[in-house]
Amino acid sequence: MKYRELIIRVSGDKIEEVETVLIEHGYIAMQIEDPLDALDIAEHQDLYKYDYINEEIISASEKAEPGTREVVITLYFEDNEEGQKQLADAEKLVLDMPGVKAVTEITGDDSEWLYKWQEHFKPTKVGKRIVVKPGWEEYEAHGDELVIEMDPGMAFGSGLHETTSMCVKALEKYMPSGAKVLDVGTGTGILAMAAVLLGADEALGIDIDDEAVRVASENIDKNGLAEKIQVAKGDLMAGIEYEPDIIVANLMADLVMMLSPSAATQMKAGGIYITSGILDIKVDQVSKVVRDAGFDILEILADGEWRAIIAVRKADN
Ligand code: SAH
Repeated sequence: MKYRELIIRVSGDKIEEVETVLIEHGYIAMQIEDPLDALDIAEHQDLYKYDYINEEIISASEKAEPGTREVVITLYFEDNEEGQKQLADAEKLVLDMPGVKAVTEITGDDSEWLYKWQEHFKPTKVGKRIVVKPGWEEYEAHGDELVIEMDPGMAFGSGLHETTSMCVKALEKYMPSGAKVLDVGTGTGILAMAAVLLGADEALGIDIDDEAVRVASENIDKNGLAEKIQVAKGDLMAGIEYEPDIIVANLMADLVMMLSPSAATQMKAGGIYITSGILDIKVDQVSKVVRDAGFDILEILADGEWRAIIAVRKADN
């Protein structure tokens, strides 16, 4: 199948602004190649412990000099009328943004797509114990690591965004074993799978996007977790009759605010509410909504410009 790519070259000091605007406009099917990531891998070989620190990464990391660093964002679109329109809108959106140096458009096909993922998607540690690996990589778990195998479908990234890893860290820290978990905006299913591997009894993943529901179900099957995880199509928690001990929701700030009242209604006192995908500039506003809905905030995690709020359901009085 053919698809379209919009390739955006951005100077390193403006990448967060450009990424944020794209995400806020709903462009989530993106891949970001940042020489700083390569530098980070090269500098923390002990942490990554994998043997893929190759020449390419070392040479990419040399390009990470301040001032000259260039980040490449690739957005993916379907090769049809709607995809073409979305691509044109995205192009218009970024063309005048500061830091954007060049925008090019190409048509690719699935075989190239797979090839690209094979190049860029390597086993990656998320949180303390979870390692996400693509199906085509061999990986042997060290110590108490838990491995999730995941081949992202075209509509998704690898699920390894900072906002996702903060949710995994929060699950590791706050989830009691045997929990019942609701994952709102499940995407590839990664958080529902991480929760079950980390000791949850069962999970339900909800997504508004049909493609996400399909890809998540496939990933869950592939990992042998279908007995414990259900996936359903839905808009936030509308019509969902599920009483979770934990809700994890990696959405945008506005959606987190919309979700919070139903999250409070559906959980007993002591229930844990993990929300992520919140930009630093929105964290106060979201925190207030979360408190007003009936939660106490336990912790706010930060990674770059992103925040995750972890809260506990108060007793009604
Ligand atoms: N949980 C995954 C994916 C997060 S991306 C991870 O952490 O990596 C956010 C997901 O929320 C997308 O898959 C998107 O389709 C879904 N989403 C957006 N609006 C939604 C809504 N109103 N109800 C349910 N899911 C929604």
